[in-house]
Amino acid sequence: MDFPLLKVFPASVFSKNFKGSLYYLPIGQGLGDTANGLGLYRALSKRFPDALHIVYKDPRWDILTDQIQGDRTILRNYVTDFDYRRSSQTKGAHRKEQFDKLKKNLTRELKTLDGNGYRVAGDMASPERLAKGRSVFEEMWNEMGLILEEKEQRPWIPIDQKDWDESTNFLIIHKLKDVPFIVIAPHTEPDKRWPTIRFSELGKKLYSITGARIVVMGFRESESPTIPDALYAFDLSLPIISAIIAQSRLFIGHDSGLTHIAASFDIPVIDIMANRTLPPFEVRPLTPYANIIIEPEMGKKGFISMETVLSVALELFKIGAIRNPPCPVCCRPMDYTRYADSYGLARACVCGLTVWNEWEKESPKFYRLNVGKVTTSESFPDPGKGEILELAENDNDEFFLENSLRDYGRANSTIQVLFKEKGGVRKTPLEQFDSPAHGDIVWSFDSVLFLFQQIDFYLSDVRILGPEKFLLTFSRDIFPGKSVRVPWCGKSVKLKNIHEYFSYYAWSAWCTPERWEYPIKMAEKKEDFKVAKNLSIQSWGYLKKARTISRIIRYSGKEFYASIRSLI
Ligand SMILES: [Zn+2]
Repeated sequence: MDFPLLKVFPASVFSKNFKGSLYYLPIGQGLGDTANGLGLYRALSKRFPDALHIVYKDPRWDILTDQIQGDRTILRNYVTDFDYRRSSQTKGAHRKEQFDKLKKNLTRELKTLDGNGYRVAGDMASPERLAKGRSVFEEMWNEMGLILEEKEQRPWIPIDQKDWDESTNFLIIHKLKDVPFIVIAPHTEPDKRWPTIRFSELGKKLYSITGARIVVMGFRESESPTIPDALYAFDLSLPIISAIIAQSRLFIGHDSGLTHIAASFDIPVIDIMANRTLPPFEVRPLTPYANIIIEPEMGKKGFISMETVLSVALELFKIGAIRNPPCPVCCRPMDYTRYADSYGLARACVCGLTVWNEWEKESPKFYRLNVGKVTTSESFPDPGKGEILELAENDNDEFFLENSLRDYGRANSTIQVLFKEKGGVRKTPLEQFDSPAHGDIVWSFDSVLFLFQQIDFYLSDVRILGPEKFLLTFSRDIFPGKSVRVPWCGKSVKLKNIHEYFSYYAWSAWCTPERWEYPIKMAEKKEDFKVAKNLSIQSWGYLKKARTISRIIRYSGKEFYASIRSLI
C-alpha cells in the first residue's frame, strides 16, 4: 500500500489565500538538496503566505534552516543520527527506514487534517521526467503544476547581515576584498570526485595564468589540492562560506552541496560532473550561469581532462556570468560541455546535439545548421519516393537555412532523411569532429526528431540501412496509424506514435542502462522498463508505485520490469 493521504499539493488550483498545511518532505538529505529545498520553500511561502509550512530538515544544516523558522513555518527533524562522512549511512536501508517511519507518522497526522494537508513534492521517479531531461526539482514544480520565475527556480541560502559582514572581514584579512579570486571545492563522495591531483594542476595553472588567488573550500580532514598561495578556507560557517562564494569571480566544484550553493548567486559556476551514478541533468545546479562539464562520451564513463576544465575556467574567468546559448533544435539551454581546448568547446544539449563553438565567436545561430545536403535518390537502394535529405555533419558549405527547411516542408507532404549516427554520441567529440570548425554539429537521433518537429513534421517510418545508418521518413501526420520501430539505446523500440517517444524514450543519447542505478529506461518488451539490477531506494519506490496502482510488474528471473502504463 502506498500512502494515499500523502497527496502532492496541486499548487495551480489554489489561490493565494490557501490556509492548509504544506509538508516539505526531504528528498535526500544532502546540502545541495537543502539549498534547492530552501529555494522551493521561498517560492511557495511567498505564493501561499497563509499556509502552514512544515519543513523536514536535516539537523546538520540547522544553521541554514533555522533562519526560516517563524509563525507560519515549523521545522521538524527528518533524521538525527547521520554521519554525513559515511555514505553508507546516508544511502540505502538506513535512509529508507527513517523515511518510512516519517511517512507513517505523517499519514496519521494528515488523517486529522481532514484533507487540508499536502506534501509539496513526490519522491517517485517518473519515466517522463527522464525523457524530458528534467532535474529532480524541476519535476517537483511540474508535479505541483507550479510555474516559477527563473529566480524562484534557483537554490536559496538565507544569509543575514552579520554573516555578510564576517565574510567581508575575512576577505579583508586575507587581502581578497575587491580583487578577483576563484573558489575551488574539491571534496565530495568518491563516485562524484575528480582526482585531487588534477585539482592541484588546475589550481596551479589558473593561478599562474590569471594571477587570481585560489580559495579552497571543503573539509579540513579530506585530501586537498596543493596550490601555490592558495587560501584554505575550512571551518567557517555555511552562511559565511556562502557569502564568500557569492563574492568570487568563479566557482569550480563537483555535483556537491557547495556547487548548489554557488548556483544561488549570479556567478559563473563550473560543475565537473564526474558523477558515476546519475544522469547529469537530474542533479544539475539550477542556475543559468553554469557550465556543466560531462564526460566526453555522453552516458559513459569517460575522462574529464584537465585541458577541458582549464579552458572553460579561463574563459569564464574572463567573461563572467553569461547564459549558455539555446539549443538550435530543442531550444533548451546548452549547458553541457563535452570537451574544450584553447580553440573552443563542444557544447551539448540534453537532446544530444553537440555544437563546436570557437571561443570569442558568437554561438552558432539556428540558420547555421548544417542540415540538408540534397542527395539524389539513385544513390540508395530502394529509397522510396523523391529526394532524400542528408544531415551533413562537418560541411559548412552546404546547409539549409531555416526558411529553406520550412519551405521544403511546405512543398512536400513527406520528407526522407538519411541519418548517419557517426558512432552516435558515444564517441568523443574529437572522434566525431574530424577537424572542428565553428558551428559544426554532431546530430543525435533525438535532435533530428526535434528539428523536424519544429516544422511540424513527425517521424512516421524508420528503415535501418546499416549500423548507425537510418532512412527516416517524416510526415505531418502525428498518428501515422501504424507502429514505428525506432533505434533506441542499442536496441529498437516499437511505438504507436511519436508522442510515446518524446514521453518515454527521448534522452537516448545519455542512457546507459548498465551505469545508472536509477530506474532505467530500457525497453525489453513494449512499454516495459527494466529497473536496475541492484535496487536503489528510488527504483524500489518506482516498482512499488507500479504495483500499487495497477499491480503490473514482472520479474524475469534476473531483473524487475514495471509497465509504463501503470505509471502514467
Ligand atoms: Zn537540444
